[in-house]
Amino acid sequence: MTDAPHRLDCSAAALTANWRALARLSGAAACGAAVKADGYGLGAVAVATRLTEAGCRDFYVATWAEAAALAPALAGGPARIAVLHGARAADLAHADLPGVRPVLSTAAQVRRWREAGAGRACDVMVDTGMNRLGVAPEEVADGLLDGLALDTLLSHLACADEPDHPLNAVQRARFAALAGRTAAKRMSLANSAGIALGADYHFDLTRPGLAIYGGEPVPALGAVLRPVATVAAEVLQRRLVRAGETVGYNATWRAPADTAVVIANLGYADGYHRALSDRGRAYAEDAPLPVIGRVSMDLVALDATGIDIGEGDWLRFDPDLPATAAASGMSQYELLTGLGRRLERRWA
Ligand SMILES: *Cc1c(COP(=O)(O)O)cnc(C)c1O
Repeated sequence: MTDAPHRLDCSAAALTANWRALARLSGAAACGAAVKADGYGLGAVAVATRLTEAGCRDFYVATWAEAAALAPALAGGPARIAVLHGARAADLAHADLPGVRPVLSTAAQVRRWREAGAGRACDVMVDTGMNRLGVAPEEVADGLLDGLALDTLLSHLACADEPDHPLNAVQRARFAALAGRTAAKRMSLANSAGIALGADYHFDLTRPGLAIYGGEPVPALGAVLRPVATVAAEVLQRRLVRAGETVGYNATWRAPADTAVVIANLGYADGYHRALSDRGRAYAEDAPLPVIGRVSMDLVALDATGIDIGEGDWLRFDPDLPATAAASGMSQYELLTGLGRRLERRWA
């Protein structure tokens, strides 16, 4: 619907510029893209088709359902999809999508793929210290992966967004020790923040997610990234709130003086989280409007003092993910992936 009272404006130029910047920072390594959780909320098909045009060849989703939703859009093209959650028994029935391979992460998955995959390509995740998904380096040394059509050997960093954390170097060393120990064509360790850790962490292929979408996992990347997605919503009503009156549920905000207030068509059901009550910010042109009182399910109130906007005008909500994360106490990842289905993703 194009006349909806709220939308998500997505910039294809910013998306591809961010990916190209990350590809440059990846040096000699190729640069893939994590598009799980429907492209971090922006739309996996829209994101992956644009990034394929920009030169991206490796896309990561979490589940086979996500792979099935994305694969037709990339079919016949040069890009491939890897499914991070591997191949459960229930996945095998769907695991013959062309151009899609699993990232196997347990010995049982490896056995299952050996039996059912009929020699088809796969990736494998090794756990080097995060203790989340992955086979152990000892299992690799014991020959677990021998004979697999192994494309990429992956591991994942637990603390890449803390550059000084000692676990980074420990994980890197454990992963590097596997070089040449498997038939893998490529090795891949770094997510967005891992790219900023430097060339030692790049191996053959990097896998950024957050930074492509304008998130800043570490300040060092901030200088090269641009916001990609901006929530916009229409003003439903403008009112004058008299000094001493309150605004919104539970009357948490009280007007210190007569205050011009606008009510915008956006709420926590759209992913404008309740944690932004009294803390969020929108803009009319360049003029900032602070959120006042509680964010409702479908509405939010803003202080429009001195700003000439009213019913039918549009507001842009702050697209600065680090700032909004700091204001809300939520992570940049949650802010993106929580964006509501109701918002039309409008690419320009
Ligand atoms: C989500 C994910 C990524 C991307 O991480 P970002 O922090 O968003 O850059 C890379 N690799 C794996 C295994 C992931 O799960």
